Amino acid sequence: MRLLPHTALSSAAGILVWGVTGEPIAVPVAVAAGVLPDVDHLFDYYVKYGRRDGRFQFLLFHGWEYLLIGLIAYLFWLHEPWLLALIAGYATQIAGDQFSHDNARWNTYLVTARASKRFRAPRFGGPGNSRAYRSLVETMPFGREALTRWFEKRLPHGNPGSR
Ligand SMILES: [Zn+2]
Repeated sequence: MRLLPHTALSSAAGILVWGVTGEPIAVPVAVAAGVLPDVDHLFDYYVKYGRRDGRFQFLLFHGWEYLLIGLIAYLFWLHEPWLLALIAGYATQIAGDQFSHDNARWNTYLVTARASKRFRAPRFGGPGNSRAYRSLVETMPFGREALTRWFEKRLPHGNPGSR
């Protein structure tokens, strides 16, 4: 999912938590939790296009498990408005990705499932394909063609899911 829908969804979640808890801090916290996990793509891009190694899909900050951990912490330990906002914002991030990516499978956004496969990229399709850079290029206001050309020259070697 792209930056704009992630921002919109997490803003809505933050406003909801603000309404429920009366804490305006809920809004920036939810937006941060709904947007910032996507910085983990930079590491994947670095491996894929910097090192030209297409074998992996890390997405280290993407995992339903993190949402579960947050919920457990909120219910049994830290009953704080900011944590509720964090959970709500992150829920929009992970659910937004899970349900907007056609190639996402049930285990695509489980960090434990990816770790158990040693972060090997899925063989066909999915966000692990060698043209994953496209989602970055699409968020650019300009320079898309130049950026596409640059990435095309840096496509990883020997990637199983290259198309
Ligand atoms: Zn994401």
